[in-house]
Amino acid sequence: MTVKELINKLAVSHSLTAQEYRFLLDERSKDDEEYLKELAVAARKDIYGSAVFVRGLIEIGNYCKNDCYYCGIRRSNRSCDRYRLLPEQITECAKQGYSLGFRTFVLQGGEDPFYSDGLLCDVIKEIKKLFPDCAVTLSLGERSRESFLALFEAGADRYLLRHETASKELYNKLHPEGMSFDNRMNCLKELRSIGYQVGAGFMVGSPYQTNAELALDLKFIEDFKPDMCGIGPFIPHKDTPFASFRAGTLKDTCFLLSVIRLIYPSILLPATTALGTIHPRGRELGILSGANVVMPNLSPVTVRKKYELYDNKICTGEESAECRSCLEMRMKSVGYEIVTDRGDIKK
Ligand code: SAH
Repeated sequence: MTVKELINKLAVSHSLTAQEYRFLLDERSKDDEEYLKELAVAARKDIYGSAVFVRGLIEIGNYCKNDCYYCGIRRSNRSCDRYRLLPEQITECAKQGYSLGFRTFVLQGGEDPFYSDGLLCDVIKEIKKLFPDCAVTLSLGERSRESFLALFEAGADRYLLRHETASKELYNKLHPEGMSFDNRMNCLKELRSIGYQVGAGFMVGSPYQTNAELALDLKFIEDFKPDMCGIGPFIPHKDTPFASFRAGTLKDTCFLLSVIRLIYPSILLPATTALGTIHPRGRELGILSGANVVMPNLSPVTVRKKYELYDNKICTGEESAECRSCLEMRMKSVGYEIVTDRGDIKK
């Protein structure tokens, strides 16, 4: 089969074998990429029209007990200036966000025992009490089933936990001993069984990654069907063991966004900040490849620079309102409209 025939097959059956995904990645031409993009945009338009969902990202803290080789807030990075937002500060961000029209808040941070179940449950309940029409999403790494359950019962609706890679072998090259591929995958299954809407995802162009591994990621997305899939280019951070590796590319990330859109047409697919970091119009180009979510930053400006997962991260200087209107303008410039409801997946 030619690449084009495989693309047609994917658009109809939403499934390929891992070998076929790999062939697609290895052999695609520029024309194939354009063709795939057209089908992906059409599939997304059928379901979501020209709507782009927004999520307000609140980076609650950068202390982390983990030591992922790629990540700027890893435990061993002594140059990282650590901070923690207190419960009042987190609700303050949500209040600001609400007045700017956000109806989904994503609380993201490093794995930090300071954020106990008790503390987080109180924050979640407070936000849900103030804003019952909003969704609360957590992105706080791996926790126990009991913890996931307590947070869900407190009102959390969604949980983002990128699987990072569907290859155990690659996982072990990106993480030190003591971190477990099986545990991460297991967390995703627990989250789903508890009733969360679940987000998975992976980095594109991370060190040692090949198309064979990306094919496994695609197969994983096809099988697991997460409600959301966060993908963005790997970008080196100067104070990590991966400082001298090259960043992933716009071209590869956009191609994968289109493939994922065809695998699961109604999936929520963010055009990430990392994509906006490697190219000045990265997020717009992500939307034009099939993405339908953007996640502007709502963190207090005083801490923004400190949540530095990778070098040169964008949007660290602006106030939340500026981020919101900047993205609104960017989306308009490519013919899309930011909508301010909860932005649930249309199944
Ligand atoms: N501690 C939470 C949140 C992690 S930060 C957790 O474990 O899920 C969110 C995502 O940023 C990570 O899942 C990772 O895929 C991405 N990330 C981290 N370092 C990065 C880098 N150097 N380049 C690009 N993305 C990175």
